[in-house]
Amino acid sequence: MIITRFAPSPTGGLHLGHVYSARAAWTLARAPQPFEQRAPEQGARAASGRFVLRLEDIDTERCRPEFADAILADLAWLGLDWDGPVWRQSDRGPVYAAALAHLRDAGLAYPCFCTRADIAAAASAQHGPDGAIYPGTCRSLSDAERMARSQSMSPAWRLDVAAAAARAGPLLWHDDDAGTVAADPCAGGDIVIARRGIGAAYALAVVVDDAAQGVTDVVRGTDLFAATHVQRLLQALLGLPAPRYHHHRLVLASDGRRLAKRDTAQTIAAMRAAGATPHEIFIMLDMAPLA
Ligand code: GLU
Repeated sequence: MIITRFAPSPTGGLHLGHVYSARAAWTLARAPQPFEQRAPEQGARAASGRFVLRLEDIDTERCRPEFADAILADLAWLGLDWDGPVWRQSDRGPVYAAALAHLRDAGLAYPCFCTRADIAAAASAQHGPDGAIYPGTCRSLSDAERMARSQSMSPAWRLDVAAAAARAGPLLWHDDDAGTVAADPCAGGDIVIARRGIGAAYALAVVVDDAAQGVTDVVRGTDLFAATHVQRLLQALLGLPAPRYHHHRLVLASDGRRLAKRDTAQTIAAMRAAGATPHEIFIMLDMAPLA
């Protein structure tokens, strides 16, 4: 049975880009035939698969309960109904802690005490790409240094990606468009798998939860294509199955720009308030430029 998911972060209102993803995931689970022939507002339901919902709300500073409530209300209004209870990552700290402990015990995760400013300074000193790739500063700290530093600040945890990739060996993953992809997890450097004071980070939580929710098919935008490489590695290290991936093109605003959270006119809430119907929103989506 196909199980797809929609996993928004409640840091703002739902916009057209989210609905594109949610509709594509809903359609794959519910309606094997082309979406146009089985629109959710027509109440059609093939019951061939499951569509589950997960709120990725571990970032307590940016996520707000009112955004979460509004996302659920917008999805229900659109007719994108989901199966089972809504999962909230904020409820799942102990599960992520166990996954982190597994990676730490395997010697593949290390504490990082760097601030954003430290990372930017180190990267620019090395003429690196603007702090995007972590330069590995804390990878080789001694146990004594780690102990001393953790007296004054709680660390983030990073994956030692080269060691992890060597441990896991070559890995493949499947993408609908790209076909069989050889995982290249090192390209993104030693990613954070647990943020300071939070105990988890997106890459760790997403693989743990996709597996725990039994997701067979991940449907999401091409902006997350590159992130899949290291997610595949984390799946291998944690003994989790690899779902199939469907990375879809991104919805652009009518002027061709990428949709941003600040484009509040493009939120579903704003369109609803202006009198749009779900059907009109789906038509708008069908006509929207894609990148
Ligand atoms: N929570 C992520 C976001 O809203 C999506 C994660 C995913 O689909 O893997 O961008």
